[in-house]
Amino acid sequence: MAAQAPSAGEKCVFCDIVNQRSPAWVVFEDASTMAFLDIFPFTRGHLLVIPKRHGARLTDLPFEDQMALIRSLDEVCRRVERLTSDYNVALNAGAKAGQIVFHVHFHVIPRYGESNPFRATSRAPLTEPEARALIAELSAP
Ligand code: 5GP
Ligand code: ZN
Repeated sequence: MAAQAPSAGEKCVFCDIVNQRSPAWVVFEDASTMAFLDIFPFTRGHLLVIPKRHGARLTDLPFEDQMALIRSLDEVCRRVERLTSDYNVALNAGAKAGQIVFHVHFHVIPRYGESNPFRATSRAPLTEPEARALIAELSAP
């Protein structure tokens, strides 16, 4: 399904990924959703699950897209359980809640016993070898 475009003049990095104008390390995709590695991961295997249709927040999406997103979130959580049984699922809605990319997304953040990663002041970018290893672990159904 083609993504609905953001409003005129608004650039959206996640729509660019959906439309293959920007690269991403994709672990899962179906007709209306995608999941890919976060480029500045909080922890190893940090993933983002998005609808292909553009909407800034969950409540902007039609019900069918919300349901498809939850189904994909479930699939992604199952895959993350290959890495660890412990993870956070988060959705930031609005700038004051920490939303930076205004295309709705769930974060799935594996936890390995590290101290609170959300307090990190800097996050190292995802490296290609790490991304390749994670794709090998997570992209198979
Ligand atoms: P937010 O704060 O909006 O909930 O989170 C946005 C997330 O998107 C951040 O964790 C950030 O690292 C990630 N991100 C921003 N731009 C890109 C991009 O171009 N590609 C990928 N894979 N992740 C991105
Ligand atoms: Zn978008």
